[in-house]
Amino acid sequence: MIIKKLKDKLLEKRYRVILVMAFLLLVGVVAIISRKSEMELRSLPFSPGEFKEIALTFDDGPDPMATPKILDMLNREGVKATFFVVGKMVEKYPELLRQVWKEGHDVGNHTYNHPDLTKLSREEILKELDKTRILVKKITGKYTYLVRPPGGRYDNKVILATTLSGYKMILWTDYPGDYGCSSSRLIYQRAVSGAENEGIILLHNGLDTTVEAIPRIISELKKRKYRFVTISDLMEEIRAKESVYFEKFEREQKARPLPLEMAVTE
Ligand SMILES: [Zn+2]
Repeated sequence: MIIKKLKDKLLEKRYRVILVMAFLLLVGVVAIISRKSEMELRSLPFSPGEFKEIALTFDDGPDPMATPKILDMLNREGVKATFFVVGKMVEKYPELLRQVWKEGHDVGNHTYNHPDLTKLSREEILKELDKTRILVKKITGKYTYLVRPPGGRYDNKVILATTLSGYKMILWTDYPGDYGCSSSRLIYQRAVSGAENEGIILLHNGLDTTVEAIPRIISELKKRKYRFVTISDLMEEIRAKESVYFEKFEREQKARPLPLEMAVTE
């Protein structure tokens, strides 16, 4: 009897040890997987694109002043672009987003309130993105998983929260500094000098100077034989390199962080 009790106790202890070991192993595996995904995202080398394609992107809309003018320019030039929209602006101007979509442009998510995502918890980040994703779906009939973090601000937490939920973070390779810039000539010059294969140009639904620069940018890039594509087109073609824009951004832009542009006001 005593021997049996001792045996049971030992067995019980052994099971406890096995359970603890299994738990530790599980924690270890989860940690390695999360670490690996972070490293994979950050270690993809940037290689110049093969295709002479370029994507124009417009943040912070829809805006009642700028968006109709931008759409008009794009229509005139026969170019499709991508609009990274802010949820609270979509709520205010749903008809503008409807027009963007009807005219064949691509739509991405630029959060609901335009916050600095690095300051938010994982749950808050996803709330910002999900709210806008659902709003966009109501108007376009399609969910968008393309995300541009406000101000291009992100960290490991933002990368993991977005990518593990199926979102794809899209930054840019070419920022002509149009936000708050009073010279359309300067915007044009910077945009074309930063153009490259499979590049992404970041512009805003903001000042008239941006609108004025658009036809010149398009005309010069057409001369240089670039084909204008949307982000979805670009992603389709270079799916294997979809994280390339993190690297490019890290290397060339992060050294001079952007002001968290707040075109979005009540
Ligand atoms: Zn923005």
